Amino acid sequence: MLTISCSEPPKFNFTNQGRDVPEFDADNTYKYVEEQLAFGPRVPNSQAHREAIQYFNAHFRQMAGDQSVFVQSFKTEAYGDSLQLYNVIASFSPEKSDRILLAAHWDSRPRSEMDESAPESPVPGADDGGSGVAVLMELARIFRDTPPPIGVDIILFDGEDYGESGDLQYYFLGSRHWGQNPPVEGYNPRFGILLDMVGGKGAQFPKEGYSMEYAPSLVNEIWRIGEEFGYGDLFLDEMGQKVADDHIIVQRITGIPMINIIHHYVNDEGTLEFAEYWHTQKDDIDIIDKDVMGKVGSVLLELIYNRIPTDELP
Ligand code: ZN
Repeated sequence: MLTISCSEPPKFNFTNQGRDVPEFDADNTYKYVEEQLAFGPRVPNSQAHREAIQYFNAHFRQMAGDQSVFVQSFKTEAYGDSLQLYNVIASFSPEKSDRILLAAHWDSRPRSEMDESAPESPVPGADDGGSGVAVLMELARIFRDTPPPIGVDIILFDGEDYGESGDLQYYFLGSRHWGQNPPVEGYNPRFGILLDMVGGKGAQFPKEGYSMEYAPSLVNEIWRIGEEFGYGDLFLDEMGQKVADDHIIVQRITGIPMINIIHHYVNDEGTLEFAEYWHTQKDDIDIIDKDVMGKVGSVLLELIYNRIPTDELP
């Protein structure tokens, strides 16, 4: 693995560009969560997983166009099984060289180890996977209707949540494969934003620790927009924990500065905790709050359409 380490994080400048910003539709987003759940848990090698990849492929082709969607298919071994995995990549305004990356993981966890009643059952994955994907699906619809001022690539990573608890070598399978096998040589977006668990009732997003190392100016701008929009109870102006997720894989392999918006807590002992439904059977539609996804989507639209200085614009 190629490792790139930077002692000084890049500094991004954001200013209000006075541009119009399209509206995010939280109802669409909720529907996209329901549609994913209807397949069942999207566990690698399952029928639901195969059906879901067709669904994502069709959705993003409709939004970005057939020529701008690439399904990166690959096999990998884990726990004695050969897994057939797929990353989905959709490019908006592909002619623009100035780009950003948005990502979420689309796979569901094959076990619910935090659920005493059903530890062997796969997680429905409404929030853990489903909500971030749903927000990106709705952003894709908006990018089709109102092309963004900067090029945007959406990536759905597969196999993020496959590893057994603590066994990090079998997590992040899709992002690792993508980083090591870049579909576009020399791909160099300004930054990346990962969404993970962005739809739970009572969600809160403290500033995730790795994100604050990789791109603090980007984190602070997103959280500032959240505050401006009156979402300070969601985008908490507090340091969170370091959460191992696809963003650290992308950052370490490719050097793309990537941050993570993720619902988590710092508990009284100062260690990482997730919501009570995390990695249980309760991570289903009942714990989804469409307003949380709506707020995340609105903040991202403001960032993408109105805060990034771009040279191409008149
Ligand atoms: Zn998970």
